Formats: sequence, structure tokens, C-alpha cells
Amino acid sequence: RLRARGLVKRFGTTTALAGVDVDLGEGQSLAVMGPSGSGKSTLLHCLAGILRPDEGSVVLRDRDVSALGERERSLLRRRHYGFVFQFGQLLSELPAVENVALPSMLLGTPRREAIDVATQWLASLGLAGMEGRRPGELSGGQAQRVAVARALITGPDVVFADEPTGALDQATGQEVMRILTETTRRAGASLVVVTHDAQVAAWCDRRIEVRDGLVVGGAA
Ligand code: ATP
Ligand code: MG
Repeated sequence: RLRARGLVKRFGTTTALAGVDVDLGEGQSLAVMGPSGSGKSTLLHCLAGILRPDEGSVVLRDRDVSALGERERSLLRRRHYGFVFQFGQLLSELPAVENVALPSMLLGTPRREAIDVATQWLASLGLAGMEGRRPGELSGGQAQRVAVARALITGPDVVFADEPTGALDQATGQEVMRILTETTRRAGASLVVVTHDAQVAAWCDRRIEVRDGLVVGGAA
């Protein structure tokens, strides 16, 4: 489904990725672990087409997406990927249901229909009745469930999550991981989770460890 070979990414004199291979099967979940500054987020950004690697390839279903320009990468992300970040990904002025509906509307779904589907997503994640709340009126765990719905509404091939539980306490983080992994699997999407927390990583099918820009542990 998603295959990366020989990824190298430099920032000035810093080599954030020094030649990384990753394979992610259809419907599979992968945890990317490792210490702070090891290159985890840079790897996620290169896999997800947010950054263009300096060397190496990223292939999504037989299509090399690593060399695409900014505009094509933006379209690729919108059509094929969903994103969950640590916090701050929801638009604070918009109610929860509009936050969820937005990616779908950006792909051309009529507003009415997108809002209906978003409402169903929120209900299925235990957030019925909270459609009208703005992100600031939700708990951290509720906001991350909104973010999960938002990541999945477009039916993505891959969901990318960077420290999705980073702003949550242990119990809430576990609950968000349960919902993230279950919902992603049910939607038939693959999942990449960046985390430094072994209990969070345990929810994924496979784990790799990154150190100094190289994969040092786990099966790539
Ligand atoms: P953390 O666990 O703290 O989030 P990380 O493993 O996600 O760390 P990255 O953010 O991938 O680490 O950073 C890897 C290296 O690349 C670090 O040395 C970092 O300082 C550097 N780096 C990352 N992004 C940039 C950037 N935009 N400009 C310059 N250097 C960067
Ligand atoms: Mg990071």
C-alpha cells in the first residue's frame, strides 16, 4: 500500500533522516517510536507528502508520490490521507460538526450531505449532542475523537497521527488509541502513529524505532 525506500531529509546541516525504508500494508497499523529529535515527525511528514524528501522514494499503490510538486501533494493529502495531531488541528471558530464535515466539503460534497455524514460520525464516536460545540468547549479526549472523525470522513487510504495522545492523560490516551485503531481498521485504512509511549504503540500491529534518522529496531 505505502512503501518508502532510502528516505533522506536534511535541514541545513542537520540530517533528520539518513536513509529510511518503511513498508505499510493495506489496513495495517504501524507505530513509529524513538527519542525526541530522532526524526519521527520528519519521517511522518515525508511519508504523508507534507515534506518532499531530498533522496529516496515514497510509493502509494504503485504511484511514486515523492517527487510531486506542492499543489499535487496537497491534492494527494486531501484525497487519500487523514491526519490526527497532538492538538490544535481543529478550527477553533467552527462547531465540531463543521470541523468534521470540512475535509469532505473541500472534496466537493454538498454541505448538507457532509454535515449529515459528520453528524453520524460524531454519534458513532460517542459524541452525539456535541455537534454544536466549538473545540474549546470539548475535553481533550473529546476533541481528539472529533479529530479522528475528521480524519476518516473522506475515506482515506492512510491515516497519519503524530503524538495523538500527547496532550492527554494515560487513561484518556488509551481510550483515544482504542477508538483510533478500531475506527481506522473498520474503515479499511492503514495507520501510522508517531509516539514515544510504549503503551500507545502497543495498539498497533507493528512497531519500528527511529534513532538519529535511522530505523534501528522492529521490522521495517
Ligand atoms: P519529537 O519527539 O521531539 O517530536 P522527532 O523525533 O519528531 O522529535 P523531528 O521533528 O523529526 O524529531 O526532528 C528531527 C531533527 O530534524 C531534529 O534535529 C530537528 O531539530 C530537525 N528538524 C525538524 N524539522 C526541522 C525544520 N523544519 N527545520 C530545521 N530542522 C528541523
Ligand atoms: Mg515529533
